[in-house]
This record gives sequence, C-alpha cells and structure tokens, in this order.
Amino acid sequence: MSKKSYIVGFPRIGEQRELKRALESYWSGSSSLEELQSVARSLRKRHWDYQVNASIDCISSNDFSLYDNMLDTAVMLGAIPARFRHLHDEERYFAMARGTDEAVAMEMTKWFNTNYHYIVPELSNEDHYTLNAAKIIEEYREAKAHGINTKINLIGPITFLGLSKRVDRGECYELHSRILPLYEELLVLLSALDEDITLQIDEPIFVTDLEPKVLSLIKPTYDRLASCASNLKLIVTTYFEHSNEATKILLNTPIWGVGLDLVHGRENLDTLPLIAGSDKQLIAGVVDGRNIWRNDITTTLALLDVLAREIPKERITLSTSCSLLHTPFTLDYEEKMDEEIRSWLSYAVEKLDEVSLIARIFYDGEESLKSKDQKLLQSIKESNQSRKNSPIIHDLRVQERVKGLTKFTRDGVYEERIALQKEHLGYPELATTTIGSFPQTPQVRKAREEYKKGLIERGQYEERMREYIDECVSFQEECGLDILVHGEPERNDMVEYFGEQLRGYGFSSNGWVQSYGSRCVKPPFIYGDISRPQPMTTAWITYAQSLTSKPMKGMLTGPVTMLNWSFVRDDLGRDEVSKQIAVALCDEIDDLQKSGISIIQVDEAAFKEGYPLRTARIKHYESWAVRDFKIAVSSALKETQIHTHMCYSQFNDIIGTIEAMDADVISIETARSGNELLKIFRQAGYRQEIGPGVYDIHSPRIPGVEEMVEQIQLLLDVLPREQLWINPDCGLKTRKWEEVKPSLYNMVEAVRRVRSSAPKSA
Ligand code: GLN
Ligand code: ZN
Repeated sequence: MSKKSYIVGFPRIGEQRELKRALESYWSGSSSLEELQSVARSLRKRHWDYQVNASIDCISSNDFSLYDNMLDTAVMLGAIPARFRHLHDEERYFAMARGTDEAVAMEMTKWFNTNYHYIVPELSNEDHYTLNAAKIIEEYREAKAHGINTKINLIGPITFLGLSKRVDRGECYELHSRILPLYEELLVLLSALDEDITLQIDEPIFVTDLEPKVLSLIKPTYDRLASCASNLKLIVTTYFEHSNEATKILLNTPIWGVGLDLVHGRENLDTLPLIAGSDKQLIAGVVDGRNIWRNDITTTLALLDVLAREIPKERITLSTSCSLLHTPFTLDYEEKMDEEIRSWLSYAVEKLDEVSLIARIFYDGEESLKSKDQKLLQSIKESNQSRKNSPIIHDLRVQERVKGLTKFTRDGVYEERIALQKEHLGYPELATTTIGSFPQTPQVRKAREEYKKGLIERGQYEERMREYIDECVSFQEECGLDILVHGEPERNDMVEYFGEQLRGYGFSSNGWVQSYGSRCVKPPFIYGDISRPQPMTTAWITYAQSLTSKPMKGMLTGPVTMLNWSFVRDDLGRDEVSKQIAVALCDEIDDLQKSGISIIQVDEAAFKEGYPLRTARIKHYESWAVRDFKIAVSSALKETQIHTHMCYSQFNDIIGTIEAMDADVISIETARSGNELLKIFRQAGYRQEIGPGVYDIHSPRIPGVEEMVEQIQLLLDVLPREQLWINPDCGLKTRKWEEVKPSLYNMVEAVRRVRSSAPKSA
C-alpha cells in the first residue's frame, strides 16, 4: 500500500495535560518514575490510536518526549555537561532540564519562531560522545507491539549542532566530524529493527539563511547518512519557512524524500521542477500545523493541482506543515465555545481527519468518498464559507476606519515633546519606576477566579481590586518611587486581559499548547476584525491616580505583542490585524489622556520574537511593526509621555528599529548583561530616555543598595543621567511582596546616594 497521509509529529502533553500532571507529581516526589513512565506509555498508545483511527499512513515514534526532543538528542549523543555527569541516568535527565541545588539548569530558548522552548545542548571538545539509542528503539518496539510500523523522528545533525552552544572556545559545527559517526552508528542500529525503516530527519535550521560553510556540510552529511543501510528511507524534513537552498543540495544525495512546509514556506514551490526531475518523494505539508483554523480546502486542492501537474502523484505524500505539537489537542472539550466560532477551528486531532480526507480526495477523487467523509468535506466547506461571510468576522466599520486612517504618527518631534513632558511632569534625573505589575497574591488570584466563576458580584470584585491598588500605591509612595503604577491586579495575562475586552478575540477552555517541559500556555485567538467596544483600563488607572499626586503610569500591551502571543486569523495579513489592534489602542490612549493620565506605557515584550526567520522578510516586518506602534500612540499629545518595555537584552541588530518606534522612554532587560548593552545605545546615538533594568526580577534574590549603586555608576559611565531611568528589569507579578519591598527600597536608596554624589561625566 502506498503511503498517502503523513503527520510530522503529534502533541505529547495529553488531551487533559496528563503528562504535565504526571511530571509534576513525579518532580514533587508524590509518584515514582515507574508511574510516570506508565502514564507516558499510555499516552503514546492513545496518541498512536488517534492517528490509526484517522487512517493516517505515516505515524511517528520518538516524537514523544518527557521534556524536550533536543534534550533527548543531547542525551542520545552523550552530550552531558560536566556538572551533571556524576548523576544517575534517572536523575540526570530532569536535572539537566531543571537544575539541582548544585548545578544550574541548561539554558532554554525559543524553537525558531514558535512559542515552544527547547533545551540548548552544551558541547565541548573534551566531551566523549557515545551513542545511546535506547529511547528510540524502545518507542519503535512499543508501537510495533501495537501493530504500527512507525517512521522514526530524529533531529538532524546539522540542526542539532546549529542550535547547540560551545562551552569551551570554538564553534559547534567544528564538532560535526565527531557527531556524524554517531548518527551513522544510530542509523545502522535502527536499520536492524525491521525490514524497512523510514526515518524523518528534522532539519528546520535549513529554513534560515545558512552560511556557505554550513551549506557545504549538507551534501557530505546526507551522502553518508543515506548510505548507512540499504533498507533505510530518509526523509529530510523542514518547516516554518522555505528551505530552497538546502533542498537543491539534498536532491543530489541518496535520501528518499524531502518534507516541505507549503503553508509557511510557499517559496518551496520554486523547487518543484527540480524535485520532479529527481527521484525523490515529496512530503507536502499542506495542513497548517501551527494554527487552529480548519483547512481552506478549496485553496488546498488548488495547490495540490499545481503539485500534481509537476510531480507524479505516487511520489507525493500529504502531510501537516510541521509537528502538531504547536496546536492544542482536541476540540472535544470546547463545550463552552460559541458554536459558530467552534465550527471554524481544528486542533491536532481534527487536523488528522483533514490530512486523511484531503489525501483521499487527492488520490481517489471526490466521487469515491464514503458518506462519513462526504459529510466532513461538506462541513469543512460550510465552515470555510461561514468564515468568509460571518458578520462577527467582517466588521465594515473597522475596515473603513483602518483604510481611512490619516494620522500615523504623533505630533511633535522627540526633543520638543520631552522638553514639554519634563516641564509638565517634573520628574527628577534618574527617575525611578517599575514595569507595571506587582506581586499577584493568592487573594488577588482568588478574587479574579471567583468573579470569573460568578461566585462574587462585580461590585465585590472591584472592591477587592481597589484594596490591592490602595496598598500598592501607598507602598510606592512610602518607598519614594517617582512614577507609580497601579500594579495590574486585574490582569491574569497581559494579552488575555486586553483580548477579553476586544471584539474579534476568542478564548478556549482547553486550547493548551506546550511551551516547555510541563508548562503549557493557552493563547487566545483572533478570529475577526478587532474593535474596542469601550475603554479597557481607564477606570483602574484613574482610580489609582486619584490616590496620589505623583504621576500614575497607564499600562497597555502593544499590537505586536498582542499578535505574537495569540493564534492569528489566516484570512488577513498579520500586518493588517496588527493595524486594527493599533487603532483600538490609539483610542484607549486617547481616553486615558482625556481622563488625566499623562504617562502611558505600551509594552512590546514580544517585539523581538516576532522577527522572521529569513533576513529577506525582516524589512517588511519591521516596517509594519514600527508603523503600528506609532499608530497606537498617535493620539498621544506632546505632553503625554509614552513609554515602552521590551523583555530581552539583544538589541544590536534592531537598535535603529527601536529608535524608529519613537517612544519617549524605553525600559529594557539589562540586569543580566551589565552595561554592555547600553554601549550599543550610545554607539547608535540613541536619543530617547532609557530605563535599563538595574536588577533581575527572575530571581528571588534581594539586591543590596551598594550593588545597585555600582550598577547605576556603570550605567552612568555610558549614558548621561538626564537620559537614564532606574527600574527593575521586568514586571514583578511573579515575585513575592517580601522580595519586592526590600528590593525597591534598596533601589530607591541607591538612586538617592547616586543623586547626591557629584555627577561623573559620561
Ligand atoms: N507591564 C507588564 C508587567 O509588568 C510587562 C510584562 C512583560 O514585560 N512581560 O507585568
Ligand atoms: Zn519584561
């Protein structure tokens, strides 16, 4: 039987986050490793069953992981950092991921442009790499025992090296000649498992702009790997973008096929003629693996026509665009969702049926569909139609407003604005402030929850929030901070809070997606045109302002961050969606300002992570991201001071863009990288004011006065005091009051000491 339908990978956390619970119970000592492993086994079985029931032909093993597949790969290669080597196998795996009292955890970072985080392998010349294939073999046999011949998923050697870091001097790719033989050994081992073995080798790094020396590794690597054993079929798979440079090279190696993302990497179509002229299989990713919308089936079938015109159908297999790890599990539990909205969605389990259905239509024709499939097709077509026409998606007033926009930027140049603001607000040099949130106490969470469940009345809820704000403001006054905040007690999450108040945003009950380890997030989704029915924050902020004569900072989440932490509709460009959010925020800023608020912070915590994977697309991204930040703040009067906040410390390549956003003040995360970062601002001739975080809020440690004085002095070595603000490096909501209070007292005291010392020249 030929293989027609294919799933790149399946979520592993479980439909009710069973893996999360099992992991956390094991970590807390409430259950044994055997119990954890038994949950893992039953989840794997269930997940395979889902795919079998949907008649998927190519199902993976080794897409499962107890923590992360990059970590698994490091373990498979024996890339164990020295500080974990003395530990037993069982202890070691989670110690590497989570750290121990003695050894810090390995670093974690974002998997390409998704919100999944992988563990960064640490490599060094002195490591002794040895193969440990037990997990892979075990999972293969486990599936086999259930009657499934899986394809085996592996992270390819070039991606593995490209995403690792060297802890000694040198580059990861220098270790290629030591790693590759282990992969060869692995492949030989796997080839003995069965008559025919198919391997899916993931090389997502091929979708980035690769340097020539990395490109030159592709051919020798795959010449060797594909020749390890005659019964091996290698499918080199990429996703999230096109991989044209690599595909061209791979076609000249003895691999069996290439897996390409035709949803997020349309340019992959450029290599169709080359694929056609080769002997390779094409695994065509046509069902979006990282979004939640039902497939637009007419468009997909048209795309398949294009494929079939170039390549014989028997050389094509239909697939998801990437692993379904990036989508929630199943719609089954979305009972509370509006029926119409639910009919537009498709999570991992539903996507299985889509792949299967599309494959049947493609290979056997629509006429051959059985009645169950016909019904599914009918319902997909209806939902496609309803998305095209639904009045809750298409709001003409919003579209016209956005189209007719004439004001794209605020009045006044920076120099003029800042002079007015300083006069109007009268804040001192080295002004002190915080990033917005204060500790989310159990009482605050409880009040929010009870209100959501309808257990307390709105009046009661607001009363409790006001009590929190009272305390928060009086603490800040007592502490002597210059610019105050209300503390964000009413916000569960900086995106969800605004999403809930904007038309066009939807929420799920069970739309969990793994972020890292046992942690999952439940992103809201944007299904329709965005508008703001009423003010979102003014009541809280003006209440807080009424308690103090110091300036109270209004707090909003910026358009790019709203987008990057949501599932976004796929029937409108991201740049257009972002623009609609910007317009809604613009109105909010106008309202805040009219009710007497004169400092407003627009957080762009996720600005950097929205960057495209390909350099060629950066210019476009930057241009609309900056445009929309500016639209959002375009209603601000010259006297109104606009702040922004970004949560990271790598600004080298984007400093010009940050400057172009034209915020009056930016606060950034520098506490962990000293004043190096600031030098970049100075070199770039950055003029606006900057609040480099003077202490790290990610740790419970309370920084001392002396140490912050030193830190401020270092900052003053780089920038003049008129340009500097002093603040922690991010919001304080994850900290405890016992940590926050002394830290901020110390911060204010440190500033007092520096202010009274003679100014050093910068
Ligand atoms: N204003 C937000 C807060 O303080 C910013 C959070 C963030 O940058 N992630 O919580
Ligand atoms: Zn932050």
